[in-house]
Amino acid sequence: MNQKFGAGIWHFANYVDRYATDGYGEPRSLLEMIEMAGTVEDLSVVDINYPWSPDISVAQVKEALDRAGLGVIGITPEIYTREFAKGAFTNPDPGIRRRANEMCNEAADVVRQLGGTYVKLWPGQDGWDYPFQVDYKTLWKHSREGVGELASQNSDLKLVVEYKPREPRVHMSYDSVARTLLGIESIGLPNVGILLDFGHALYGGESPADSAQLAIDHGRLFGMDVNDNLRGWDDDMIAGTVHPMELFEFFYTLRKNAWEGVWQLDQFPFRENAVEAANMAIGFLKKIERALDRLDWNAMAEAQARQDAVAANRLAQEALYGA
Ligand code: FE
Ligand code: FE
Repeated sequence: MNQKFGAGIWHFANYVDRYATDGYGEPRSLLEMIEMAGTVEDLSVVDINYPWSPDISVAQVKEALDRAGLGVIGITPEIYTREFAKGAFTNPDPGIRRRANEMCNEAADVVRQLGGTYVKLWPGQDGWDYPFQVDYKTLWKHSREGVGELASQNSDLKLVVEYKPREPRVHMSYDSVARTLLGIESIGLPNVGILLDFGHALYGGESPADSAQLAIDHGRLFGMDVNDNLRGWDDDMIAGTVHPMELFEFFYTLRKNAWEGVWQLDQFPFRENAVEAANMAIGFLKKIERALDRLDWNAMAEAQARQDAVAANRLAQEALYGA
């Protein structure tokens, strides 16, 4: 099998949080991050944030990607920064809502120039913090209209919505698989789908494999990324370190449905070496791939037909850890 692996380019950034406000390392330029990503074993594609520094041209990015042997899967417009503190698609100021639309359309042009397939919408500031802060009907209407408008303006591309329960807003409007599907179905356009982040599903109290199945059943699973967390927050830790069995079940579900796509990393190695963290995650994803080859699929189907948890988990453990 030649499974393709990808990563968000932010995996190779240095980070700040609300305590280490000057960052956990020296900032890196996009070109440096691409160069680092190129040293990860078996990484084929990256997702790049937009806009990047104005002194770097699209041609320079393309050149750096070629040198690193990487392609672009999609572009993530930064509709979640200070300018959008009260929302991008749902901002009370129509001028800022327009600005969000423009930024996403610019990102779509970069997708075309770099040969990617999607614009990733992560509306992290679209939501609310306090009771009585928003009119829920208006907020949800704007959430859907913002995505729908972009989808109709860019019918040649995919628009993927990455849902997450919260952060930075205390409650995000696209908070779960069910609500996001409901929104997408009401938009009713073929080029809008979900990018399912394994960690977001986990800490949102979902079973990520079930979330994937639901999105697939609606024909809306357009992309995915993996990481891990302790279930109380979007820790973006190394995939497979905390929830290996649920991660295995997630990929089991993708293969069961013959879902073909890039297996992507969305990790934030705050205190780790970024290249080592990526290599470790991809190494584990390959173990999962081999485990899926070893798994007794018929026996698993039979065990599930009986809801035999012991037999099913014995099969899963044997495939993943050896007999
Ligand atoms: Fe993600
Ligand atoms: Fe996340």
